[in-house]
Amino acid sequence: MYDITIIGAGVAGMTATIYARRANKKVLILEGKTYGGQILETEKIENYPAAPHISGQNLAKTIYEQMKEFAPDFRYETATKIEKVNDGYIVETDENKYETKTIIIATGTSYRQLGLPNEKELTGKGISYCATCDGKIYEDKEIAVVGGGNSALYSSLYLSNLAKKVTIIHRRNEFRGDTALLKKLEEKANVVFKLNKIITGLKSENDHLSSIALKTTDSNETEELDISALFVEIGREPNNAIVKELVELDENGYIIADESGKTSNESIFAAGDCRTKTLRQVITASSDGASAANSAISYLNSR
Ligand code: NAP
Repeated sequence: MYDITIIGAGVAGMTATIYARRANKKVLILEGKTYGGQILETEKIENYPAAPHISGQNLAKTIYEQMKEFAPDFRYETATKIEKVNDGYIVETDENKYETKTIIIATGTSYRQLGLPNEKELTGKGISYCATCDGKIYEDKEIAVVGGGNSALYSSLYLSNLAKKVTIIHRRNEFRGDTALLKKLEEKANVVFKLNKIITGLKSENDHLSSIALKTTDSNETEELDISALFVEIGREPNNAIVKELVELDENGYIIADESGKTSNESIFAAGDCRTKTLRQVITASSDGASAANSAISYLNSR
């Protein structure tokens, strides 16, 4: 039986593993895709101390190699079900069943995508889902943000301090986001709005986004906009389906947990983007991994 099963090998899950193994706990870490999680989509990370200008891929690899030194049981399997049993849980994957005393959920979120044909191929090559991660790369360039909620407005404001010009594209003429934020954007000389517009296509040159095609929602009017980057800010979806019956989630599906990683369930902990928090960054994911592991270790040691 494992002491701690960690679901998700992003930055939060891998950091939790390092902490749990250093405390001599028997650790299983499960990853359904590739280790690294969301940072793999970031071409350059500039806000992680001591690793300036590192690519998301290199940072993921560095953390992975560091984690492997502590010899956890790392398996490429997708956790599909968690069942409560007397002294812990049975975690089912697409291949096996494992018994564990505690669980750390580090499953992250998935950015909602536009669903355009070459969106995936251009991710990290002009298409970004994270303004604070990638904004600096497009300093003094003409860029666009799509979305009408607070994420789009906050990102636009952040980007307007870096980029030459920010075009905000929204499919309606009213924003979900805060009026105060909208007002600040309206006062910016380098911010323009394109309302009642949907993006119908992405064009690339030299394997990088070069322009987007727009269509007006209530007519067949079309236009093309030359931009260096498009920030897609149309909402996020936490990957918490597997625990929805076991821990309390907020109205948006995030696991309710504070910085300790403690959830409504005493032996399930949450780390990283899948929990309720305001700043979803590499550094906060890493910090969450440490805290959730610490809480799981304290729980195990107290029994
Ligand atoms: P959101 O509020 O759900 O807004 C998503 C936006 O994207 C909406 O304007 C929506 O358009 C648009 N959209 C959705 N699917 C689209 C598609 N396929 N194509 C084009 N547009 C699409 O998401 P969010 O902005 O990420 O915010 C989520 C929650 O976090 C909100 O409660 C927000 O207030 C909160 N938040 C808070 C802060 C903060 O306080 N610091 C920062 C960011 C977010 P429609 O309006 O037409 O549906």
